[in-house]
Amino acid sequence: MRKLLFQTVAKKPLTEPTPVADDPELLALAQKLKQKIDATFAGSLAIRAVDAGSCNGCELEIHALNNPLYDLERFGLKFVASPRHADVLLVTGPVTQNMREALQRTYDATPAPKWVVAMGACAGDGGVFAESPDCLGGVEKVVPVDLFIPGCPPTPLTLIKGFLALVGA
Ligand code: SF4
Repeated sequence: MRKLLFQTVAKKPLTEPTPVADDPELLALAQKLKQKIDATFAGSLAIRAVDAGSCNGCELEIHALNNPLYDLERFGLKFVASPRHADVLLVTGPVTQNMREALQRTYDATPAPKWVVAMGACAGDGGVFAESPDCLGGVEKVVPVDLFIPGCPPTPLTLIKGFLALVGA
């Protein structure tokens, strides 16, 4: 027990270092995104996140976009609770059998014009869950996808680059 306690104190934490606040790359990308959203979408692009069966790793990165470090809302991107208020569906995970209908209904409830973004390796082709009998595979098996964002999970910066590509900035 004492050995374990000593190891715990002596070892470095497994967590990654905290990203730098106001990282110049992040600010440059986010400003570009804001300019495009201001010019084309009247200053606001609404995103509805849909978990179609993910391990929640992707959701942690989505949550990070709203923390004080990234604070994506200041650049005009905001997450909404209802697909009826959304411009973009951000779908994570492989589509499980149990979530197929929910995803389809969420897509149907989103007013046109709308974009679907498949976030992460699982949303692309099922990823590590592709062989599971409970999974249908990627998001495209159920609804049309406009953009794939790779990664397992994609980092907040990768997500911002993906949104830039989506809006054509
Ligand atoms: S891409 Fe990775 S983090 Fe995202 S749901 Fe799949 S396994 Fe989890």
